[in-house]
Amino acid sequence: MKNIFGYQYEELENKLININEKKYRARQIYEWLYAHKEYDFNKMSNIGKETIQKLEMIFDIDFIKIKEKQTSKLTDKYLFELLDGNLIEAVLMKHDYGNSLCVSSQVGCNMGCSFCASGLLKTIRNLDAYEMVQQVLLAEKDLGERIDSVVIMGIGEPFNNYDNVLKFIKIINHPFGMAIGARHITVSTCGIIPKIKEFANENIQVNLAISLHAPNDELRSSIMKINEVYKINDLINTIKEYITKTNRRVTIEYVMLNNVNDGIKEAEELTELLKGMNVYVNLIPYNENNSINYKKSNPDRINAFYDYLKKAGIDVTIRKEFGGNIDAACGQLRAKEVEK
Ligand code: SAH
Repeated sequence: MKNIFGYQYEELENKLININEKKYRARQIYEWLYAHKEYDFNKMSNIGKETIQKLEMIFDIDFIKIKEKQTSKLTDKYLFELLDGNLIEAVLMKHDYGNSLCVSSQVGCNMGCSFCASGLLKTIRNLDAYEMVQQVLLAEKDLGERIDSVVIMGIGEPFNNYDNVLKFIKIINHPFGMAIGARHITVSTCGIIPKIKEFANENIQVNLAISLHAPNDELRSSIMKINEVYKINDLINTIKEYITKTNRRVTIEYVMLNNVNDGIKEAEELTELLKGMNVYVNLIPYNENNSINYKKSNPDRINAFYDYLKKAGIDVTIRKEFGGNIDAACGQLRAKEVEK
């Protein structure tokens, strides 16, 4: 039996047709689940008894649960327990322009970026689409407000769980469901080239962010293992193809690690690499944690790096810091809990 929250709209229609139901029921079910937040089939008052019995037989409607929550002023961090006992995280950020949720896509991560706490625990399995959908539903319920945007930047490499991530995007984007606009959804990858190429052909208007973090192969390979498989030049060319094909601006993420990748030399190299491309660079102050030895760049180094790019004509912003005091960086809360 498959969880109802893992069904894309068209898939649900087909499933209903298979059990001799009218396909318009899909719309009713989507509206109950996502607009009215009604999770009991028996209370879906425009659906007849016999149909409800069938629905109960073929769909699971169980929820993952919030195991722990940490709160600070503008950030809530959720530790979720999945139905099989595995733990994942999501982080809610209250921006002045709306609520944004950072969701996980896998249990653990195999990418092994040296600065990232998620990689401390290797991938146990991919998340199913319903487990990603429910992170949004539970955060929304707990907050009592709408989630306006979703970033797939929690634990895991989304492009190593491509099909489920795509399904998740389509479910939360659907107009009869949560209707989170494609432009309010961002997927972030460490640079799985074949999947970036595939994603370029999906014809969906979501944002793509690339975790670049270094402007040359030597430095990038020293902090991101994936660079041994997909080199920077190939990655940059793939991003260029993506931009040409989709006509969409791509975000380049650059985590600022003190005295590692944050010098003017790197700013120069980065400018050289990105000039003329329709990208914008997001400088991310490193979120320190006890198990890993990197330090956050000094503010003057971040500012100098920023100024260099800006003057060179590169679009750049410094990411506002959220949740530094509550283990909000990817994987920290889970790593702590699993240690216990
Ligand atoms: N695997 C995907 C998505 C998850 S990580 C990816 O690599 O893009 C989301 C972003 O947070 C990545 O850019 C990642 O490099 C960055 N990140 C990881 N640990 C961090 C930390 N402690 N502080 C700041 N950013 C971090």
